[in-house]
Amino acid sequence: MRGRPAPHNPTCYAIRSLGGKNLSSDPVLLVHGGAWAIPDDMVEAHLAGVCNAIAAGWRALSKGGSALDAVEEAVVVMEDDETFDAGRGSFLNREGKVQLDALIMEGATLRAGGVGCVEHLRNPVRAARKILSESPHVYFVAEGAEKFAAQHGVPLCNNEDLIIPREVERLREFQARAAEEKPNLFAPAISHDTVGAVALDREGNIAAATSTGGTLNKAPGRLGDSSLIGCGCYADNKSAAASTTGWGEPIMKLVLAKWAADRVAAGNLPEWVAAEAINYLQARVGGHGGIILLDSRGRFGIAHNTPRMAWAFKTPHEESSGITR
Ligand code: ASP
Repeated sequence: MRGRPAPHNPTCYAIRSLGGKNLSSDPVLLVHGGAWAIPDDMVEAHLAGVCNAIAAGWRALSKGGSALDAVEEAVVVMEDDETFDAGRGSFLNREGKVQLDALIMEGATLRAGGVGCVEHLRNPVRAARKILSESPHVYFVAEGAEKFAAQHGVPLCNNEDLIIPREVERLREFQARAAEEKPNLFAPAISHDTVGAVALDREGNIAAATSTGGTLNKAPGRLGDSSLIGCGCYADNKSAAASTTGWGEPIMKLVLAKWAADRVAAGNLPEWVAAEAINYLQARVGGHGGIILLDSRGRFGIAHNTPRMAWAFKTPHEESSGITR
């Protein structure tokens, strides 16, 4: 393990990691549904959500779709699932609005599409995909992103369509508590339900996508790691595809997805790099979260230092899901 040893931090948990190797040229799909202390009564919904995402992404791969298609379809399913902090059902910002960020990236060409601070898109990853394939630009924010999406056939919605009563209540409770004490917004007990996917297709290409509603009670206009290239999402056939989740500010400071991909390019196993990345996150900036990592040889890693992280993966020979590693 490189870097300084992790300082003792009672709020962080031991890094849990998993890795594996797929037979080359077989497709692989790996998804996560956020890293935090998922309560027992929410475990089933998280597992169902990541398994549904795997099913949708795998359908795309089975029909001959690309890794890019697979990660898009997998993320759309989780954006549509109110269990997660993505799409409808996301956390509300300080003003009681949903504000979404997403990124998708293709490892063969390094083409990428990102949106930030959008308020009228049910599926920001669809808009991100349109940017990737139909724009000379890489990243759009706010009204400009929504205008681009609408012009390219992605339907807009009202912000109220993205808000659910559970989140109105969560924000109300949080703000009431914040008036009395100073809650630790970034403690692992606070939910980090961002979603992400990485995939390898039969052509040997990898891709990644990440989508989020960000953090609870965030300031309007705040962007986290999720939609920033190299922070919450990255894909390069020459290194690896990665999607992260967790407290976004520390992840951004370390450009963690690219940090991990570079270590895979240097010859390290994704399984070890995933664990090393989370160790680095904790040791260097006191962060917490999780990562999924996949290279173009089908080797992958899953790691987190939060009590739980919802994940699932599938290859032609194996399928598995869980909430810890
Ligand atoms: N990383 C996300 C953000 O900070 C939050 C999450 O992973 O749930 O916006």
